[in-house]
Amino acid sequence: MEFTADELWSRVLDATRDRLQGQTYRTWLAGTAAVGVTDSEILVEVPSQFHVEWIGDRYGPLLTDVIQQILGRPLALTFRCADPASATPIPTVKLTPAVGGAPQATAAAPAPPPLLNQRYAFERFVVGNNNQLATAACHAVADKPALMYNPLFLYGGVGLGKTHLMHAIGHAVLKANPAMRIAYVPTEQFTNDLVTSIQQGTTAEFRGRYRRMDLLLVDDIQFLKGKERTQEEFFHTFNALYDARKQIVLTSDRPPKEIPGLEERLVSRFEWGLVADIKSPDFETRVAILRKKAHDDRLMVSHDVIDFIAQFCTSSVRELEGAIIKLLAYSSITNQEISVELARKALHGTFGSAAGAGGSALTVDRIRKVVAGRWQVRDEALNSKRRTKDLTVPRQVAMYLIRDLLDYSLVHIGRLFGGRDHSTVIHSIRKVEDAMDFDTEFRQAVEAVRQEIENGPSNE
Ligand code: ADP
Ligand code: MG
Repeated sequence: MEFTADELWSRVLDATRDRLQGQTYRTWLAGTAAVGVTDSEILVEVPSQFHVEWIGDRYGPLLTDVIQQILGRPLALTFRCADPASATPIPTVKLTPAVGGAPQATAAAPAPPPLLNQRYAFERFVVGNNNQLATAACHAVADKPALMYNPLFLYGGVGLGKTHLMHAIGHAVLKANPAMRIAYVPTEQFTNDLVTSIQQGTTAEFRGRYRRMDLLLVDDIQFLKGKERTQEEFFHTFNALYDARKQIVLTSDRPPKEIPGLEERLVSRFEWGLVADIKSPDFETRVAILRKKAHDDRLMVSHDVIDFIAQFCTSSVRELEGAIIKLLAYSSITNQEISVELARKALHGTFGSAAGAGGSALTVDRIRKVVAGRWQVRDEALNSKRRTKDLTVPRQVAMYLIRDLLDYSLVHIGRLFGGRDHSTVIHSIRKVEDAMDFDTEFRQAVEAVRQEIENGPSNE
């Protein structure tokens, strides 16, 4: 039997769903999608870098096991964030590359696709007062490249959607005409490529690469500041494309005139078309963005919670997204349903250890104390090297709970228990997990301890 990446991954998810808590599954795995599979590897896209680490660390082994069960042989599992900055190309997208970066690309091989983030589409972008003009301009450019606004220059603070809109133009243009040659390039990469091409004596190739594009998307152009040679090169690229009636879209954190150290001739060219700004979203837009996000990512977050987050995070959309992720993580770690109360705790920085005077402070000490109390041993004895059963069991449980509740690294946990190495910690955690599977009484004991830890010290 043969699987496409999608089929394989949906089987994996089906098999995993029952083995995880509902909230955990929804938070971490429901929004994942396989984007490619080879003989040796399956590549899965997740919503954020945080997810990459979290899922890989905590559910990677389980998922790898499941894959092996389904296929009857092992397959490497790789997660990547649906973010172009940290991504490697996948051969499934049909786009022309910005740069000849494929490691073993031969002269004849098709170059890798530009890294357009699938999630950065117009459909996922919420239009509000803050970005109305910019969005309308982007649609106009996508509908009729090089006709209305050339160049289109978008500017605004970090995390306000400039990159998203830029990719959205790329997707829309490509959808209307798959033959269009599109390049997306962050300015820093443009600079790096130029430097490399100078070193390797391949500047002609470098120039050709950009100048044959139909649509050139250059992100964060403010990084041209003070880079004379790159500015010079970009000036010629700009002119070549402009004269050939090709569309150019630029983004920056400020308008052209305010970019320090940008040559006057570039400033004036950047103003030839339309300069549109994006501001911070107002409350209603923040709510709309969060609702859309919850809907698109199938997150179980109520309107109350969304309103709370929208009131709490006011500066950028990235901040809003970060808040949601933090809340999901908090909910998953503490195994509590998402509520306004939980959001308050998560966002007020009571997350993880050293949670101040709050009654539900989750700390290593607290976990050790409760575990030691339940198994009636002295707290310090958990560090000892003795391997009698009366000590190994609570020690293993404490390690397990610290991992589960605080998500400390294995090495860190080892250090907390008298300098044990990480393989001992893994072994301990597995022991607890296994025992919880077959020994109901033991599982109940661990769950009771977990409950007690989460309820916080009673005498505070
Ligand atoms: P910038 O390039 O301006 O720093 P990004 O385009 O990287 O910002 O946006 C940051 C994050 O916020 C991205 O995940 C993006 O999808 C999201 N985002 C920004 N604006 C919106 C919006 N209006 N609707 C939906 N998501 C948005
Ligand atoms: Mg950006």
